Order: sequence, then C-alpha cells, then structure tokens
Amino acid sequence: MYNDLKGKVAVVTGSSSGLGRAIAIRFGQEGMKVVVNGPNDEKVLAEVVEEVKKAGGEATGVVADISKEEDVKKLIDTAISEFGTLDVMMNNAGVQKEIASHEMSLEDWNKVISVNLTGTFMCSRNAIDYMVKNDKKGTVINMSSVHDTIPWPHFVHYASSKGGIRMMTETLALEYAPKGIRVNAIGPGAINTPINAEKFSDPEAKKGVLELIPMGYVAESEEVASIAAFLASEEAKYVTGVTVHVDGGMTLYPGFQAGKG
Ligand code: NAD
Repeated sequence: MYNDLKGKVAVVTGSSSGLGRAIAIRFGQEGMKVVVNGPNDEKVLAEVVEEVKKAGGEATGVVADISKEEDVKKLIDTAISEFGTLDVMMNNAGVQKEIASHEMSLEDWNKVISVNLTGTFMCSRNAIDYMVKNDKKGTVINMSSVHDTIPWPHFVHYASSKGGIRMMTETLALEYAPKGIRVNAIGPGAINTPINAEKFSDPEAKKGVLELIPMGYVAESEEVASIAAFLASEEAKYVTGVTVHVDGGMTLYPGFQAGKG
C-alpha cells in the first residue's frame, strides 16, 4: 500500500472488465476516489463501483466511449465535479481483433486505432490540460502491451496502436516533466482477462502462449494492478517516460533460452 495515494482522484478507462477493473479495485484498496468507465455497460459499472467501495475507496461510474471527444470531456469533467480534482489518469481501455493485414478494412483499422491510440491521446490531453491549468503535479499511466516492442502478425492495428502509445508516453513525459506531470506506461504480456478468454480456452493455443513466457505462467490482473499503484504513487516520483513490461520475461527473446541461438 502507498500512503500518499489515500484520497487521490483517478479516472480508469475500460474498468468494467479485466485489467481496468482490477486497477480500479486496487486503487480502492489504496483509499482512492475512482471514476470507473466503460463504453456501454452501466449495470457492470454499478457492480465495479460497489467493488471499489468495498475495497475501501470511493467510486462513481461513467458510461463513455473514449473514442468520442464529447464522451472524453464528460469522463474527465465527472472526476472534477464529483471528487474535486484529478490526480491520476489511467488510460487502460483497449480493443483487439484478429485479421490478416491484407484483408483488414479501413473500418477494422480505425476501430482499434480510435480506441487504443486516439482515445488514449484525448484522455491524456484533457487530463493534462486540467493539471497544467490547475498547477497539479498529476500523473498519466497508459496501458500499452508487449506488442509495443514485439511484432504481432494479424494484429497490425493493435501493434501499431501500442507502438504509438510508447512514443506518446515518451513525448508527453518530456513535454510536461518541467511541470512535474509524470507520464508512464505499462506493457503487459499474457494476462488472464476476458480479452484472452477464447484463446486460453483452447489448450493447444494456451500451450503455445506459455512457450513464449520464460517465467512459465499467465499472470492475473492483480499483478498488473500493483504496478499501476506503484507508478501512481510518490514512490515513483522520479520515474517518467518509461514503459514497465509486466510480462514474465516475454520481451527477453525466449527463443534464446537454454542455450538456443
Ligand atoms: P478486456 O476486454 O477485459 O477490457 C477492456 C476494457 O476496455 C473493457 O472494460 C471494455 O468495456 C473497455 N473498452 C473497450 N472499448 C472502449 C471504449 N471505446 N471506451 C471505453 N472503454 C472501452 O481486456 P483487458 O485484457 O483487461 O485489456 C485492458 C488493456 O490491457 C487493453 O488496453 C489491452 O490492450 C491491454 N493489454 C492486455 C493484455 C492481456 O493479456 N490481457 C496484454 C497486453 C495489453
């Protein structure tokens, strides 16, 4: 636990499920005030609000599609109107869809880019605008992926969005460091969330993924949420512009393990 997080205000995008949900609950355990969000899932958001409160925090839910500018405004404005300020912008929401690159329509491409990259940009921009105008030394955390580094056939839109997030993170970190605003990212490997449910339900596919993880297991969402709490906290006060890969070694070229290569 990080004492300085108590009472801090966070927005967590895409917190109706998976990693975002776990991060919202972890922020609740830290005693934070959390705006939880999803694009169309009011009922689930109400459940997450209760989970965050049960964990020890305060919470409110906002249905907002982060690929829409007016929804992003509503999301950030709610943190300020309900909880008085914004300290932590956790850009977690993301989507993916498998499709060969030569068959990918512009619509398929735009869907992933508009949520993962443009949505992350708009939430960061609005949050930083508030922080700059209110002299707030806040922090932005972007959810990237090991695919900011590892190429991923059939997911060119997704890999491009996450590679873009890495450079967005570094650029914003450099631009706002003089104002004391930190911008970092988390790059998960294979985590047990609904986004992977179909793949992990096939034992052969799961075996294939495990072969890519030197530590030999698929992590749970809480193992990523703990890194979000650390990056949000004062314990990370001199850390900006980095992507922390939470991946059991997946980015370490596992093909070279055990004398190969
Ligand atoms: P998930 O599908 O369980 O959760 C995605 C969340 O984003 C959901 O709450 C969904 O409602 C929300 N969302 C989707 N479109 C949205 C929109 N337009 N506006 C607002 N919210 C929207 O998946 P997850 O695994 O929890 O993924 C969360 C993030 O972590 C994503 O950015 C994903 O790319 C990243 N990630 C996940 C893994 C993994 O193994 N699970 C690995 C690397 C990166």
